[in-house]
Amino acid sequence: MCGIFGYVGSEKASPILCRGLKNLEYRGYDSVGIVTGSSQLEIRKDVGRIDDLKTRLSLEELGGNLGIGHTRWATHGRVTAKNSHPHTDCKNKVAIIHNGIIENYLELKTKLVERGHRFSSDTDSEVIAHLIEEWLSKSGPLPGTASSVNGSSFEDACTKAFKQLRGSYAVLAICEGEEKIVAVRKDSPLVVGISEIGTFFASDVAPIMDWTKDVVYLENNDFVVAEKGDIRFYNLDSGEVKRPVSTVEWDLEEAKKGNFEHFMLKEISEQAETIQRACVQDMAVVDRIAGMIRSGYGVFFIACGSSYHACLTGSYLFSKVANLHVNVVLASEFENYEHFLTKKTLVFAVSQSGETADVLEAVRAAKRRGSRIVSITNVMGSSLSREGDELLLMNSGPEICVLSTKTYTSQVVMMALLACALNGDHESCLQKVKDLYLDIYNLTSRSMRDRLKALAGDLSSQDHIYMIGRGLQYTTALEAALKVKEVSYIHTEAFAGGELKHGPLALIEEGTPVFVFVSKENGDRIVSNAQEVKARGGFVIGVSDWDNPVFDRWIKVPDCEDLNPVIQAIPMQVLAYELAVQKNLDPDKPRNLAKSVTVL
Ligand code: GLU
Repeated sequence: MCGIFGYVGSEKASPILCRGLKNLEYRGYDSVGIVTGSSQLEIRKDVGRIDDLKTRLSLEELGGNLGIGHTRWATHGRVTAKNSHPHTDCKNKVAIIHNGIIENYLELKTKLVERGHRFSSDTDSEVIAHLIEEWLSKSGPLPGTASSVNGSSFEDACTKAFKQLRGSYAVLAICEGEEKIVAVRKDSPLVVGISEIGTFFASDVAPIMDWTKDVVYLENNDFVVAEKGDIRFYNLDSGEVKRPVSTVEWDLEEAKKGNFEHFMLKEISEQAETIQRACVQDMAVVDRIAGMIRSGYGVFFIACGSSYHACLTGSYLFSKVANLHVNVVLASEFENYEHFLTKKTLVFAVSQSGETADVLEAVRAAKRRGSRIVSITNVMGSSLSREGDELLLMNSGPEICVLSTKTYTSQVVMMALLACALNGDHESCLQKVKDLYLDIYNLTSRSMRDRLKALAGDLSSQDHIYMIGRGLQYTTALEAALKVKEVSYIHTEAFAGGELKHGPLALIEEGTPVFVFVSKENGDRIVSNAQEVKARGGFVIGVSDWDNPVFDRWIKVPDCEDLNPVIQAIPMQVLAYELAVQKNLDPDKPRNLAKSVTVL
């Protein structure tokens, strides 16, 4: 979940590492550290963000044309300087950075401590440096862990150490006296950038694009050795391998903030365009997938977070538009359903990054049972894009803000497209999406933002906000609540309108804010629910295309029927953004969260 960045080449490494880590900060930002050099390693690390540490630790002064850097999202060990990466062996000769979780670290650590290794951190990652040290030393490996080797070279030592690891990892390692970076990945993302000035490693393509668009996506268990002017690819299972170089199609400008204050606002504002791009699909593939859904003996949609809400929306659309039932399961809960999978089952796996560990684990379980997989992701070359039998890309461009905004609405549009394809009628969906262009443009305009800013001002001191809806407006409420809570830290919860009387109504007090998502289709029933709230003193905020006396405030949105989950989500994204800004929070980097959740 953290960000990894490495460089070896003709330029001074430290300024490149700082810029790369800044570009990667959306993946984790507890603490930062870099190590450079080859004849002598120089390490600087601490808790904080890259901009602050760059000055405080004079990171850019570190010399050397080779280095690795890390921005952490802690899984093992508190957020402290000693737990920040890089980690080193006992003699400070080997330095590593790691993204992921080493599942057998306790077992390995116990044996290493017995053999006299001294640990400086509480992380799982540090064992990697000591294992490499162990294999580099003449004394041979840990007893009972692998066959003995004497005086192994750095590369050999890394290979042997990596083979001892269980879990998920992307690791970069360097060693004093060696002019190379050694890298490995298994179930955690790692991309290699190739350019005239050298080789780059990063957890994602976007941070490399400042220097090159030529990248190599690594396979699981790939092991790479990069030196100035030379790069070799191996696989821990099969020896030397060739990996193709792909050219990233994203525009560099898309990965920059431009004139926007935050990525979140930029990405919200792009949605008039991005939902159009989500529809630019090979319709033969869409039809083939629709056929697979029709003939699937059990169809499962698996996802997490906002993608899960988009899938739930899809299940309502398939039921409504195509009279078809699909199962929607949180990827992290999917193991409870695995025994239903057969060769005839169809599994849709949805992940913005294509690297979400929970989703990938579910996909691999489904593949073991012979089920067919349709992958939906935004990142070409990601693990998910390579795992499925069929692939649909969201085409949203890079999404840097930790919160999903444009990729959520793209996913909803893709669900609507599939629902229409099930009826053999893409055209009606394409037309409806085209028609949204102006509406979204208006909803993201300055005047709309000002109105939502005023509402955010009234709500920013609240401790609790509730949201209700029915049908497609219920899934919209779920997504809206997620947006508000993750960025403003206000406890926000969504309920199906009909559920209020079964419990949540007890939460309503004088002035409790309740958002009510209304459509023409189910307007009467949800307005009755709003009345129930009002009768208990609740402060009702309607999201609909007509005003109603029950509303204390009204957010005017057009009624777009099956695409209401797109159009009603957008003002809520803007509201969430304004709440964060008013509370002086960073909307792009909510506390404790990171983009691309690559741990289980
Ligand atoms: N498990 C490691 C740690 O807690 C790496 C976490 C990460 O991916 O940032 O330090």
